[in-house]
Amino acid sequence: MLKSGSDQASVAIVVPVYNEAEVLPEFWRRLEAVMQASTGFRFHAIFVDDGSRDRSFAILQEIAARDARVSAIRFSRNFGKEAAMTAGIDYADADWTVIIDADLQDPPELIPEMLRRAGDGYDVVLAHRTSRHGESWHKQFFSHLFYRLMGILNPGFDLPTDTGDYRLMSRRAIAALARLRESNRFMKGIFAWIGFPTSKVSYERDPRYSGTSKFDFLKLLNHAIDGITSFSTMPLRIATYLGLLVSLLAFAYGIAVVIRTALYGDPVAGFPTLIASILFLGGVQLLCIGIIGEYVGRIYGEAKQRPLYLIEGIAGTHAQIKNDPPQRSREAQAPVDTK
Ligand code: UDP
Ligand code: MG
Repeated sequence: MLKSGSDQASVAIVVPVYNEAEVLPEFWRRLEAVMQASTGFRFHAIFVDDGSRDRSFAILQEIAARDARVSAIRFSRNFGKEAAMTAGIDYADADWTVIIDADLQDPPELIPEMLRRAGDGYDVVLAHRTSRHGESWHKQFFSHLFYRLMGILNPGFDLPTDTGDYRLMSRRAIAALARLRESNRFMKGIFAWIGFPTSKVSYERDPRYSGTSKFDFLKLLNHAIDGITSFSTMPLRIATYLGLLVSLLAFAYGIAVVIRTALYGDPVAGFPTLIASILFLGGVQLLCIGIIGEYVGRIYGEAKQRPLYLIEGIAGTHAQIKNDPPQRSREAQAPVDTK
């Protein structure tokens, strides 16, 4: 641990950034004000620029040049928010790590309360949203549906509802997270999977400060499928049962046809039935192949073992950033250290 002569606990703030040039100065102003006021903690912000196409990284460089508590990592391209958070987690080397969006939908003012709550003996403190201003009803509806589905499909651990990625985690929780290197990163599931004593603080989710959400409906749907297939093989089981059910129905129908023919004789008929059943069977087969395909694709992705992100540049002088890129040292296996 990096202790600079003081016994203050250290806090790392991980911020994924993608085209947030307009909000970054305001975000930093609010974050700094909050952290300045939380005496008793040394803090360090790690911005991860996920291949922004606007001035985000230039702004981060300016902030990092002025302030030694700020460092920034720039990816070689857009790897997605999951990868950005993972990089932050890899680099964070503090007693507590906070993950927060840059768009000010996650109010930085909540961090002191999270730190207080963590002090009561929790490893993870989630920010629980009591309302979601500025989000469309269909986004809320589908997200509700998705959590219900995940709840049904997933044994073992609960996916907390109405929480985003905004959370505080202890050093050992972060070390545990750093060990999960799957390339298909459904972070909500990964966060939940590690377990550890967890608590919540509530807040009202504000609309974005500026700009628009980077997630459209198709992205969210794909995200939901990722979530389900990365943490459950239940769809495969459902495909099995579906196959079984259809076979049984077909068998019963076959017997019925034989009996009917024996009793009443049968002029050649049933063309519509034939077409209907062929189409139905074809549909069921395609669906099941699709489900299997989802998993095969996932295996393919994992088998390649590609790095989760590539870094193009860094800004800031902080030791956490100047150290060897941790994806090399930690990729293999990060030991879980105890608190
Ligand atoms: N983000 C990112 N990479 C992406 C998309 C988003 O790092 O490919 C960041 C973005 O800059 C923001 C956070 O992830 O800090 C959440 O993104 P957004 O506000 O678009 O998502 P929403 O709040 O709608 O879930
Ligand atoms: Mg947002």
